[in-house]
Amino acid sequence: MTVTESSATTDEQRVEALVDDLLEKFPPKSTDPVTFLGEQFDRGLAWVHFPEGLGGLGVNPKLQKNINERVFAAGGPNAGYRNPIGYGMCGPTVAVWGSDEQKQRYLRPLFTGEEIWCQLFSEPGSGSDFAGLSSRGVRDGDEWIVNGQKVWTTLAHLSRWGLLVVRTDPEAVKHAGLTAFVVDMQAPTVEVRPLRQITGEAEFNEVYFTDTRIPDSERLGAVGDGWRVSLTTLMNERVSIGGSIPQRGSGTIAPLVKAFKELPPERREAELDEVMKLWIRAEVLRLTNIRANQMRKMGDPGPEGSIGKMASADLNKDVWAKVVNVMGAEGMLYGSYEMKRPDVASGFETNQKAFLRSRANSIEGGTTEVMKNILGERVLGLPGDVRVDREVPWSQVPRN
Ligand SMILES: Cc1cc2nc3c(=O)[nH]c(=O)nc-3n(C[C@H](O)[C@H](O)[C@H](O)COP(=O)(O)OP(=O)(O)OC[C@H]3O[C@@H](n4cnc5c(N)ncnc54)[C@H](O)[C@@H]3O)c2cc1C
Repeated sequence: MTVTESSATTDEQRVEALVDDLLEKFPPKSTDPVTFLGEQFDRGLAWVHFPEGLGGLGVNPKLQKNINERVFAAGGPNAGYRNPIGYGMCGPTVAVWGSDEQKQRYLRPLFTGEEIWCQLFSEPGSGSDFAGLSSRGVRDGDEWIVNGQKVWTTLAHLSRWGLLVVRTDPEAVKHAGLTAFVVDMQAPTVEVRPLRQITGEAEFNEVYFTDTRIPDSERLGAVGDGWRVSLTTLMNERVSIGGSIPQRGSGTIAPLVKAFKELPPERREAELDEVMKLWIRAEVLRLTNIRANQMRKMGDPGPEGSIGKMASADLNKDVWAKVVNVMGAEGMLYGSYEMKRPDVASGFETNQKAFLRSRANSIEGGTTEVMKNILGERVLGLPGDVRVDREVPWSQVPRN
């Protein structure tokens, strides 16, 4: 007997029935991606743990994995590919901190990719120490006037909306004086300039705000809640970057296994030891992420997000270095460094490009050194990093 949504007795059956319905009525291969993703959202299969009516069904987030596996296996589109910052970080932040109007307005077009999002946190003087940022927001009636510069803003050149954090109270200690907003990236007072990377492309940008006006209704959370809002984004960022659970032998390690299998037998023997070491590291990371996923389901995000982020960065870098190494002289051929403005972030079209792009993995989303600090302090109980600016109003902290 086929289980339909109305005859389903468990959340799992209900989700399965909704996926059946989606795939039957909107075959991915003959449906345009925006329509398909819109239908996926309307059935509550976008972020399955979000409330009903907002792209979810209010059920256990582990069921999202079942949905994604079935949709991707059927050739369906991946919302996180074209709008990675939106889907992985901004959507979950709006869902927690947004007003009802903001959730209704933003989540659906974010999921369908009709509206790309970017994350405007880092500044030239504040990356790891993001809470020390200097961009200012000053209240003016029902609006805020924002001035300042952000940097390394992935996909800002394609973005319709940005998740922005600015300082609204310089007299408070640094973590307490921040406020978060949704900002219109197409406003004339927002200037986006490309920043070129080692790959030759500019997938990220500098963003300048000059007297940019943001309505107070676009605030996320209360005035002064910007740090807590950012923590939601950053927790999701770490999981989104380092928390994937591929099938054994797939994911990061797959291109190395492929390159290894293509080698002549005598070279395979020479490389076997090193390839196996990397394969084992990939498997250990996969198992760690499975455990982290289970901890999250029990409501304890724990430090595993930082472990996964740190381990996946090192593993990615080592795997891609090995891939180009195994390719021999061909691994040094890159084609063109012509400046491009890509319409996806971190597109790994060739092994050589993936090798170059993977160098940034231990910087983006929080550096490996900072992840080590988190683990040292929160897991190993080691003495904390020296923090001299914690109890001092931000305006009195020396900075250059
Ligand atoms: C590809 C890419 C995409 C990015 N996309 C975005 C984006 O979309 N939005 C956004 O807001 N940001 C983005 N970033 C910025 C990223 O979050 C920052 O680069 C990162 O947090 C580090 O900050 P920083 O570059 O200012 O380096 P800094 O914080 O100046 O660090 C410099 C060095 O000092 C070390 N260090 C700093 N503090 C400590 C400490 N307390 N203990 C030990 N070592 C320390 C760091 O590990 C690093 O090696 C992106 C970065 C990259 C590379």
